Amino acid sequence: MKVAIYPGSFDPITLGHMNIIRRAASVFDAVVICVMVNSSKHPMFSAPERVELIKKVVEDLPNVEVEQSSGLLAEYARSKGKCVIIKGLRAMSDFEKEFQMAMINKKLNPLLDTMFLSSDSEYMYLSSSVVRELARYGRDLREFVPEIIIPYIERKMKNGG
Ligand code: ADP
Repeated sequence: MKVAIYPGSFDPITLGHMNIIRRAASVFDAVVICVMVNSSKHPMFSAPERVELIKKVVEDLPNVEVEQSSGLLAEYARSKGKCVIIKGLRAMSDFEKEFQMAMINKKLNPLLDTMFLSSDSEYMYLSSSVVRELARYGRDLREFVPEIIIPYIERKMKNGG
């Protein structure tokens, strides 16, 4: 079994993330999306909410599952057995941060490799923080996130974001 772990905040999941997930799902036998709980951030959606939203949008991908972890990614990956980490790269700025993370994860878990997928050009500019900003101003989000999660974002905004 070739297993890939795709970690991130996914606050909320965007079409850029979906593009990486679909491409990874076509290469690997199984893809585990791991919502990382980072206590230093103030997320829009709680980790369990993010997991639920992602589950809704990957329903048509039978080899994709969703979990959450509050620990170190290298330890989480170890608990999964033989696997690789998948990361999406938008720009050089992503590369620097992600390359450092890949090296640290390899140091902590020498069997753990990180593979990078370059963003499709139409999603290069897209991040969860852009989506959160547009949502705050009530903009149409259909070009940026899977349509079925838009009502959840709108409800969150109504309740104070
Ligand atoms: P964000 O930077 O949008 O808050 P996350 O922390 O949830 O994203 O990102 C998880 C992973 O997805 C990272 O590897 C990130 O580089 C990648 N990613 C995020 N947005 C895109 C995109 N539009 N295209 C390709 N990869 C992306």
